[in-house]
Amino acid sequence: MNVNPASMAAPRLEIRNLMREYEGRMVVDDVSLKVQAGQVTCLLGPSGCGKSTTLRMIAGVDMQDSGEIYVDGNLICDTVFRIPPERRQIGLMFQDFALFPHLSVADNVAFGLRTGTKAERRARVSELLERVDLLRHIDDYPHHLSGGEQQRVALARALAPRPRIMLMDEPFSGLDNRLRDGIRDDTLRLLKEENAAVVLVTHEPEEAMRMADEIALMRRGRIVQQGAPYNVYTRPVDKATMSFFSDVNVLQSTVQGALANTPFGQFLAPGLGDGTRVDIAFRPQHVRIDFFRNGNTPLPTPSDGVPVRGVVERARFLGHESLVEFRVDFDDSVRLKATVPNVFLPKAGREMWLTVPRQRCFVFPASDETSASFRD
Ligand code: ATP
Repeated sequence: MNVNPASMAAPRLEIRNLMREYEGRMVVDDVSLKVQAGQVTCLLGPSGCGKSTTLRMIAGVDMQDSGEIYVDGNLICDTVFRIPPERRQIGLMFQDFALFPHLSVADNVAFGLRTGTKAERRARVSELLERVDLLRHIDDYPHHLSGGEQQRVALARALAPRPRIMLMDEPFSGLDNRLRDGIRDDTLRLLKEENAAVVLVTHEPEEAMRMADEIALMRRGRIVQQGAPYNVYTRPVDKATMSFFSDVNVLQSTVQGALANTPFGQFLAPGLGDGTRVDIAFRPQHVRIDFFRNGNTPLPTPSDGVPVRGVVERARFLGHESLVEFRVDFDDSVRLKATVPNVFLPKAGREMWLTVPRQRCFVFPASDETSASFRD
């Protein structure tokens, strides 16, 4: 691959307007991404939204119908020009670690090492096995290792040739829940040390929040929101995006004079015309609960809106928090969820005041598109 000196500041990986159609259906629809060296971008989204297809096109094992892929500013693939997968300096890691059962751990890691002397290759294998804490297993075979250990061998194998780009497709989903967090953290540390640009595919929001510098949230072949995990979580572009990350309470209203009226008070609906139907969405952890004392209503504050009387329907302890479900006077069909840290298990039928801080609420147009579920 020729390195273009004018492209020194170019992203390590850039994809522009990738499109891919299968059987008349657009499964990757105008996807663009930039990933810098040392950065982890998570392609996040539900099953079937086009994450793996995007990854396969970057790897070169599938061909886009249109769009381009660049590495360090150099074109590696468009619809006429194509560098083959083995020359793209890309490391791959998939859910089934696909280790060679008949090769030792050392030989598995050495598999992709084609350059350097034998001694240099051996040194690289030992160095990586040391860094994934598996040097003691260097002569063992994959079936002697636990799932977590096999995953670490697969990581060492993928990183051995010092790939410029690492593509990882659900690399932790085959692992025991108890192991996962530790392995994710170790993997992230190693990826950062190697300074590769990483694209990691996952359908788990917690995994993306934990691993990503940037999340690209996909739905039906398109990236619907892209940004740092904090920004995507706290400034969702629509209700489906918001509810992909957590449970969401939703109230319905209609805009009048750029305001949406609800029993919890008025919410700003800038830019939405009179008569627009809206969903007012807020997360259960942002519902404030006050005890109901002698029927006195807590005083509303400008930031918190109007307290609403809620009646506990049920409460469950979830480990690090409790989930309380309320019914409300203003609409028999509405159930509101509130989460409270630690143990909070009020009895069914107990009355409480519920308040929702305005800055924690999002007003979205209740159009078919924005209220469509991620899972349809
Ligand atoms: P998952 O997490 O389930 O793997 P994904 O987001 O990675 O989902 P893709 O594997 O990219 O989704 O698939 C996107 C869509 O394209 C799916 O509907 C899938 O059935 C379809 N698809 C993928 N590969 C092919 C193929 N070779 N031929 C026909 N359809 C395909």
